[in-house]
Amino acid sequence: MLVTVLVLMTMGTITMAIIGTLAVAGGLDPEYRELRYPKPDGYRFEGWRIQGTRTMCVDPRGGPPVDWSLLDMAVDVVATWQAAAPSLPLTVNGICKSAGGNAEADGKIRWEHMSDLWGEARNLSSTSGNIVLSPDVPPSWDCVRNLLLHETGHVLGLGHQSDDMPSVMNRAGCTHEITLVDVSAVRYLYEGRTKK
Ligand SMILES: [Zn+2]
Repeated sequence: MLVTVLVLMTMGTITMAIIGTLAVAGGLDPEYRELRYPKPDGYRFEGWRIQGTRTMCVDPRGGPPVDWSLLDMAVDVVATWQAAAPSLPLTVNGICKSAGGNAEADGKIRWEHMSDLWGEARNLSSTSGNIVLSPDVPPSWDCVRNLLLHETGHVLGLGHQSDDMPSVMNRAGCTHEITLVDVSAVRYLYEGRTKK
């Protein structure tokens, strides 16, 4: 960063030199040029974010006996995260081929009976991630949607938050929607960067 700034200064590009100095003074990730999206205080991250683009398909088999669709919910959940961070490189692309649909995807959203969990994100990394939901959860749209928001947050690179932080990423079950601090966190990861 110092070298870049010095070179720019000798070129006489005063504006660029000032931007470089500000980024260093603020202690921000040097990848940033957009100071509107700082890291939210105290928020925990998984330590990576999605590289490139990611698709997820939905396998609705084995779900609870309700009349709503897991695919509709997954599309709605990703759209909600994208409303916070339009650059989010995640798409739900339909019903998985293995479930009789025509979508081939990088990851799956599906149901599975689990003894002690209502939802889980598995195989998480910057290049992979699957989501499993329990069909034994009280089958209300709001509750399962909040669980899916939470697990999708893990896929995006968000970690668990302490119970006193109002966040969809704390462990308080299905009670939390996305909050302002979650919006800041996902913007920090996906908006205002100059490179992947
Ligand atoms: Zn979790």
